Amino acid sequence: MINVDDVKRIALDIGFHACGVSRAERLDNQEALFSQWLNHQYHATMGYMERNIDLRLDPTKLVPGSKSVISLLLSYNTGDLPVNLNVPRIARYASRVDYHTLMKKMLWEMLEQLRRNYGNMNGRAFVDSAPVMEREWAVRAGLGWIGKNSNLINRGLGSYVLIGELIVDVEIEPSNYQERNRCGSCSRCMDACPGKAIVAPGVVDAQKCISYITIERKESLCESEIDSLNGWCFGCDICQEVCPWNSKAEVVDGANQEIDIFRDISGISLANLGKDEFAFQFGSTPLARAGYEKIKRAIELMESKNKK
Ligand code: SF4
Ligand code: SF4
Repeated sequence: MINVDDVKRIALDIGFHACGVSRAERLDNQEALFSQWLNHQYHATMGYMERNIDLRLDPTKLVPGSKSVISLLLSYNTGDLPVNLNVPRIARYASRVDYHTLMKKMLWEMLEQLRRNYGNMNGRAFVDSAPVMEREWAVRAGLGWIGKNSNLINRGLGSYVLIGELIVDVEIEPSNYQERNRCGSCSRCMDACPGKAIVAPGVVDAQKCISYITIERKESLCESEIDSLNGWCFGCDICQEVCPWNSKAEVVDGANQEIDIFRDISGISLANLGKDEFAFQFGSTPLARAGYEKIKRAIELMESKNKK
């Protein structure tokens, strides 16, 4: 069996900030919770959540023959940028290179290194791209707990972290450490959420969540909703900004995540770009996911409201 500490060392050398391993097995404890969440329609219009539930719960079906799930964290707590702080605001994770691309590259590199060290193995890399319960895997790998804001919280890194997995067909010694839930009696995130979207500890009703409304929702924004966005035009970090674990989290060097243009641009100047220029400047960032029209409309509605 491969030693978990050796795997962690490879991950840290590649640039990940934390790594842990769990056995690839069906997530029986998540089945009822997930179906309750769906039954309440908390996934709103994200119909893809209803599909492939069995694959979502069972990595051995997603990757036949798999034996281990390696969870990897990449912190994006690299310091604030104007677009994160000044209205119209952009969520921190979005003001950098598209994490799907960056992390996928790092995950493939990790798989290559594992092969070089331990011989041939089959594996697949996942970053928010397939039905994988990434937070639960990270918890099982000892990398943190699910906070009341529903984010994975790592004791040293906080919650400004991206999660990726490598599901492989070799046995790696699972992490023997499990983090306990350290939210305690705190409820700052639930109290601070403007739309009261955190309906129970760890449960978010997407319909009321600014992040869903500004990124995932297909329906256009209407004027009456603008105040409820609290100045956010892409995503929302409020429930993370108030979390005490983030105020003491390690700040990491994000040189490989940076895109210079975010240093000088404001939300307003972003909205003044033409469609082609937006695609050129921000096509490789998460902003492309919501698309030019959606961001532009949010900012224009905010501006026109301010002028009234
Ligand atoms: S992201 Fe914003 S709107 Fe969504 S749950 Fe957190 S604080 Fe509430
Ligand atoms: S703000 Fe408090 S309750 Fe919410 S996730 Fe952080 S520690 Fe937990």
